[in-house]
Amino acid sequence: MNSVETVTILVPVYNEAEVLPLLIERLDTLITTLDIRVSVLLVDDGSDDETPIIIENVLAGKQNYSALFLSRNFGHAGAITAGIAEIAESVDAVFIIDGDLQDPPELLKSFLRKMAEGYDVVYGIRKNRKEGFVKRACYKLYYRLLKRFSNITMPLDAGDFCLIRKRVLVQLKRMPEESRYLRGMRSWVGFKQVGVAYERSERHSGKPKYSFRSLFKLAFNGVFNFSEFPIRFIGYIGLFSVLLSMLYLAITLYKKFVHGTVPEGFTALIFAIVLFSGVQLLSIAVIGEYVLRIFFQVKQRPLFIVKSRILNGQPSDG
Ligand code: UDP
Ligand code: MG
Repeated sequence: MNSVETVTILVPVYNEAEVLPLLIERLDTLITTLDIRVSVLLVDDGSDDETPIIIENVLAGKQNYSALFLSRNFGHAGAITAGIAEIAESVDAVFIIDGDLQDPPELLKSFLRKMAEGYDVVYGIRKNRKEGFVKRACYKLYYRLLKRFSNITMPLDAGDFCLIRKRVLVQLKRMPEESRYLRGMRSWVGFKQVGVAYERSERHSGKPKYSFRSLFKLAFNGVFNFSEFPIRFIGYIGLFSVLLSMLYLAITLYKKFVHGTVPEGFTALIFAIVLFSGVQLLSIAVIGEYVLRIFFQVKQRPLFIVKSRILNGQPSDG
């Protein structure tokens, strides 16, 4: 049951018209060098450039290619989720890569070798990031903090680039949660996982589709969906503040009754008020984070909407 005979390559693409032809070329070459059955599923995440047209043209008649077109931009995680939902459980493994050729598709071979050793999830670990110094430092800090504080072991510097076995695919399909943080969910699922270090190339062309804002959102999802630490931490601060104020009260009372001096007055009072309003506001903000997530989760909205499909090179409706 460990052998992998069919693989689906899942590629989310959003405005990747410049890279797309090369991507498909590289995938085609890769497929011919492999002795297993490989199919490709492109998920067009509501691109507003030529991407959908290119997909339609290039895929026409290509038996081993399929595509999903989402009704609008649902974000990287939404696109992958749509792909995962679409992929039938008859496949042995799914290979998830970025469409901008930052994750070399050729690594499928070494990932497959790892999987043959019995692993259920093989994920890429970025060896050195080509991004700027500040962005790199932020990433590093973030992954280390996340590892320290989240309640699952999340691999450092791992992205969404991975090969997952069918049993993991099945479990991911069962997770309906909102604000998805896929690399965290993939860890959460468990089974046997291993990382493979790889050199992340520079984006072939075009601009990164993740804005700073969406990266921030992704980072937030990682923290709040997989860690109770923030809310605990606020609890500790609250407790500490209360103890501190008690101590302060005791000292003041002692001074008043033993030495008869009047409490020092205003400055301390103001200081205390500001401090504790701060603590309260912060706590409310953190609770708000969790409430927000509950709010989104209970809505049970679909995570993506498929507008149309190409199945094995043939257009099909809905
Ligand atoms: N992507 C997507 N929807 C989005 C943003 C990105 O499907 O809303 C795709 C994008 O086309 C690419 C992959 O997700 O194939 C990674 O995006 P990007 O290169 O911008 O991310 P980065 O490499 O900076 O992490
Ligand atoms: Mg990229």
